[in-house]
Amino acid sequence: MAYWMHYYGYDVTVVEIGSEPRRGGTPIDVRGESLDCAKRMGILDAIKKAKLPTKGLKFMNARNEVQGLMLVEEIGAISSEDTEIRRDDLVDILYAKVKHSVSYKFSNRIIQLEQNASNVKVTFKDDTTGIFDFVIGADGIHSGVRKLAFGQEEQFTHFLNFYFSVFTVDSNLGEQNYAHMYNTPDTMATVYFYNADSADALLAFRAPYKVIFDRYNVEEQKQIVTNAFAGIGWKVPQLLDALKQADNFYLDQGCQIKMPAWTSGRVALIGDAGYAPAFPTGMGSTLAMHGATVLADAMAENDNYETAFNVYGETFRPVVDQLQATVYDGMSFVLPETAEKIEARNSLGK
Ligand SMILES: Cc1cc2nc3c(=O)[nH]c(=O)nc-3n(C[C@H](O)[C@H](O)[C@H](O)COP(=O)(O)OP(=O)(O)OC[C@H]3O[C@@H](n4cnc5c(N)ncnc54)[C@H](O)[C@@H]3O)c2cc1C
Repeated sequence: MAYWMHYYGYDVTVVEIGSEPRRGGTPIDVRGESLDCAKRMGILDAIKKAKLPTKGLKFMNARNEVQGLMLVEEIGAISSEDTEIRRDDLVDILYAKVKHSVSYKFSNRIIQLEQNASNVKVTFKDDTTGIFDFVIGADGIHSGVRKLAFGQEEQFTHFLNFYFSVFTVDSNLGEQNYAHMYNTPDTMATVYFYNADSADALLAFRAPYKVIFDRYNVEEQKQIVTNAFAGIGWKVPQLLDALKQADNFYLDQGCQIKMPAWTSGRVALIGDAGYAPAFPTGMGSTLAMHGATVLADAMAENDNYETAFNVYGETFRPVVDQLQATVYDGMSFVLPETAEKIEARNSLGK
């Protein structure tokens, strides 16, 4: 979004809560429409260069024997152009593209928005203020811009009855170029291994109710995951040991963001802030890049921003609805509820 707004002549300020671009996460997919978006931005070659050599996903049993193998092209693929890269690499590529042409405010966030007919007055956490034509919230699932312009998070969050955590583990727990997935009913442990130094673990579990935890209390969150995986076999005990040491541990609820409108006055939302699809869809980054491009195109093609915002809403709504509906298939795939369903899923890879 920053790239396109600059391209169309705006002075752009990006506000990031972290002290640098936010890294972390397991590999993500750039597929479908986002490949075209990347091509238009001139970053497709860089993305392809960073493509991971992942060959596939192996379903494992408790004795660490392979029960099924799905090749990477068989997993939710849209086309042979789909590219799986590290989230860090995508962040770096996007940042390199804009960092010399837009201003960055790191370790900062917006704490107040005051709109009038011609602009938005923004107050930042560091007590500075600025007058802007538009504010585009691209600040993820727990968006601060959304809270200020649209209201409390709870009204837009649709809990999917699962939790997931991500952290780095020793690479000897994985196999180069493959992801290994082990399930018991309602739990999933996966190890992704894509370079010689380390691997990523993803532990997810279904939960009938919301688990209340402090978003800033990492030790409490680690205990929640440890409890959910107590007594589970395969490599889970080693993964839980690694979890204790991990300094990049992340836990969140599986949820989608659903909103009746993504714009309010001169404020618009893109990406997870407006329509997070949840990781089992494998489409978070693709949807965010596509949405940003649709909004930027609408703003370039319409002098009146209200018309542009309407075009964005109308054009992108069916794309989001269709994609978000696929999450239940994704959840059945990664988190089967019974031993029979695990076996049926594993047999897809035979
Ligand atoms: C650390 C992390 C790990 C992730 N791991 C995975 C993964 O393993 N698999 C997967 O499918 N998806 C993952 N995601 C989600 C994935 O990145 C998004 O679905 C997708 O890229 C859409 O991106 P987005 O820009 O809308 O949101 P995000 O990628 O979440 O980016 C939001 C940005 O806004 C910043 N931010 C948050 N709140 C504020 C605020 N109040 N003020 C200013 N800045 C703020 C964040 O630090 C971040 O840089 C992860 C996201 C994060 C932040």
